[in-house]
Amino acid sequence: MKSRPNIAIDGPAGAGKSTVAKLVAKELGFLYIDTGAMYRAVTLKALREEVNFSDYNGLDQLAAAARVKLVAGADADLKVFLNNEEVTEAIRDPEVSRNVSLLARVPSVRKRMVELQKAMAVGGGVVMEGRDIGTAVLPDAPVKIFLTASIEERARRRREELAAKGDIIGQRQMEEEIILRDQVDTSREKDPLAPARDAEIIDSTCHSVEHVVAMIVARVKTWRYKT
Ligand code: C5P
Repeated sequence: MKSRPNIAIDGPAGAGKSTVAKLVAKELGFLYIDTGAMYRAVTLKALREEVNFSDYNGLDQLAAAARVKLVAGADADLKVFLNNEEVTEAIRDPEVSRNVSLLARVPSVRKRMVELQKAMAVGGGVVMEGRDIGTAVLPDAPVKIFLTASIEERARRRREELAAKGDIIGQRQMEEEIILRDQVDTSREKDPLAPARDAEIIDSTCHSVEHVVAMIVARVKTWRYKT
């Protein structure tokens, strides 16, 4: 058994995974990996090159040519590079958010991404966040969390994030976009969004971020104590 376990955090859009995962990584001195950023970077490339999101072959070729690099910065923040261009901000564009699940449903693209993500975690000590981490990327991770929250709360949080950057989106529109993205993510054929059988499901609607982080860190400490 590894002394530094990997931690898998999955859940739908806006459940607070990034905030929680970064804080858990910081507290444990682990590496934070945002797998959504990888799908977003390839989606940005597809939008720029005007590849049709129904063209699975074209999307796979595009993914094969995309060199996505995640570089850890201060406070567990990640800088994202696409073929050496920094795209940390660009991948958060609402247009990318609206199309990313259409790219992420392509089985061959997922296969490439999952292989890269598995390789990032071989040494242990990683907090990896996404949709299929507990089920497909790190099925042996000893700590698996499925983080969720009510749709109203998830939309509210996403709107706040966007408003901080000057993008104002109505509550209703945000809820509709999130519901649509969740639908594509949960109904795709390969590695759909779902809790792993051994995941702990945490509904963060009524919990503070600090409380959720403490719950996860306690789980890691219990696991370490037992092994
Ligand atoms: O986490 P984030 O909202 O940035 O993820 C963007 C999208 O990337 C998700 O809606 C999903 O379609 C895709 N994704 C995925 N598998 C992951 C991480 C993200 O399919 N492990």
